[in-house]
Amino acid sequence: MLLEVNSLSVNYRTERGMVRALTDLSLSLGERESVAIVGESGSGKSTLGVSIVRLLPPNGLYAGGNISLDGKNILTLSQREVRSIRGSVVFMVFQDPLNSLNPVKRVGDQITEALRIKGVREGRNYNGDRKEIIESFKSVRIPDPDLILERYPHELSGGQIQRVIIALGLLLKPKLLIADEPTSAVDVTLQAQVIKLLNDLKAEYGLSVIFITHDISVAYNVADKIAVMYAGKVVEIGPTEDVIKSPLHPYTQGLVSCIPSSRKTEGLLKTIGGSPPSLVKPPVGCRYHPRCPYAMEVCTTNDPELASVKGSSVACWLYPSKPLQLSSS
Ligand code: ATP
Ligand code: SF4
Ligand code: MG
Repeated sequence: MLLEVNSLSVNYRTERGMVRALTDLSLSLGERESVAIVGESGSGKSTLGVSIVRLLPPNGLYAGGNISLDGKNILTLSQREVRSIRGSVVFMVFQDPLNSLNPVKRVGDQITEALRIKGVREGRNYNGDRKEIIESFKSVRIPDPDLILERYPHELSGGQIQRVIIALGLLLKPKLLIADEPTSAVDVTLQAQVIKLLNDLKAEYGLSVIFITHDISVAYNVADKIAVMYAGKVVEIGPTEDVIKSPLHPYTQGLVSCIPSSRKTEGLLKTIGGSPPSLVKPPVGCRYHPRCPYAMEVCTTNDPELASVKGSSVACWLYPSKPLQLSSS
């Protein structure tokens, strides 16, 4: 496996108390495999991404578990070792891509600098191969690459910045690309292009991809498998087709039923009532129980573990002993 996240827990220290952003989260990803991480705002998707590249903010702390990437235990590496992994093994496109670029440097200079640093790490000189950079810009369909290279980040649109960052990721040739909401800064027409682009790049470069999105319908088009997160935990993970067409966890069913024009949702929940819980004091038992139409006594006291059901893994007391009743109550 290229990536193995085992029982990872991550907290943020805040004045309101400890925010339990990730609890006992496990996830694995093979080479050339892609997974979409989906879930509502605040479910911990970005925290998972930044945890893997060890870029938690100062108030974030690893509270348990481990992360193995390309055979290395990420949490025990020195800062220097982690820096050398970023870019060469893993590259992250952040949720706010503007933050990934230095506002006072031209785009071209920043890319040359990143490649020079990579060259130094690998013990070779990088003298700024502009042709290679232009080729990579073309591969992510940036029009007028020469012009864009001369611009400052604030002179680019959100979509252009995202493409520039993805192009940089390709130049660095990582094994794993983590793209956090890569379609959020682009309008609907561009969204389809970015998705197609990521798929093409995955096939062409043999990348593994973690695609983070709050929109499960976007996930359908990009990933081999889907991991659904709720309140800092993975509640269902399985092949994309299965998760979308036959969602097992009541929360996944809710997400799928929210896909507009989905004809597969007849008889399932039409909306998800209520709102996500506070992660300072998450509900005891299954974290979804205050919103779940199928909640039982056991759900309010005991937290279900992920268990294998029909080729997927689901954390819900309805499985495996009792089949899910799909009639809404
Ligand atoms: P979104 O879809 O809105 O991007 P997300 O799923 O990426 O949400 P995270 O940003 O990982 O969610 O946040 C997970 C939880 O951790 C949330 O409750 C959030 O408020 C909290 N959180 C995130 N960053 C911090 C921080 N720096 N300090 C304190 N709490 C934080
Ligand atoms: Fe609903 Fe219980 Fe399953 Fe949680 S464990 S999703 S509350 S049925
Ligand atoms: Mg996020």
